[in-house]
Amino acid sequence: MKALATSLGTPPSSSPRTLDAELAAIEATGSTSGETDDALVKAYSLLLDCLPAEAVPPHIRRDTPRRAAKALRAMTSGYDVTLSEASGAALFAVREPAANPHKTPEPPPLPCGGLVVVRDIRVHSLCEHHLLPFFGRAHIGYLPGGAVLGLSKLARVADMFARRLQMQERLTHQICEGINEAAEARGVAVVLECSHMCMCGRGVRQPEASTTTSAAVGALCEPCWSTEFYGHLARPAGRL
Ligand SMILES: [Zn+2]
Repeated sequence: MKALATSLGTPPSSSPRTLDAELAAIEATGSTSGETDDALVKAYSLLLDCLPAEAVPPHIRRDTPRRAAKALRAMTSGYDVTLSEASGAALFAVREPAANPHKTPEPPPLPCGGLVVVRDIRVHSLCEHHLLPFFGRAHIGYLPGGAVLGLSKLARVADMFARRLQMQERLTHQICEGINEAAEARGVAVVLECSHMCMCGRGVRQPEASTTTSAAVGALCEPCWSTEFYGHLARPAGRL
């Protein structure tokens, strides 16, 4: 919070408030979410003070700081979730087929051994360098170890790491390692394709540019499995 407020610089002299006074008020608040939200609202009010007066009509001054604070809290809510909470109790045991085909195992075994690939998981994150959104799709493949992870949990783990201040490169590795840990997998690979607002709407202004990053651990580093994984990604998405 202090870094955010400090980066705003000195407000215009016409501002009725001073930076030091606002910072003192912000730092006097505690760390519970409600108080943090109050501090965020004050910080956004201070930010608006740095803009031309015509950009901040009364209804914007009244409502936008709280809306913006709520949005930032949502975009960084991944800090409030642990990996075990995101993956839940959604590990389903898999068993090798019984050695004696006439003996029915209890419970019946789930198939295992094959690659599980989920494509086109939507991710929305916030660039830690500019506090601007980047968003796109994650493709995740993993080799189950002793259990399979509920499919929706792949998306939840990706979302948990995405809802933090991020670099796309780090986000890719965190999703990969998080899935590997949560699924107790034999290997995981992740490909992330994103568009960055800090590159599209400012700076070099390349709205068509996308960034692709990848990460792999365990068996997915081996050519046979990585070839199968990237083969899945190369196929056009079918209409289901
Ligand atoms: Zn950026």
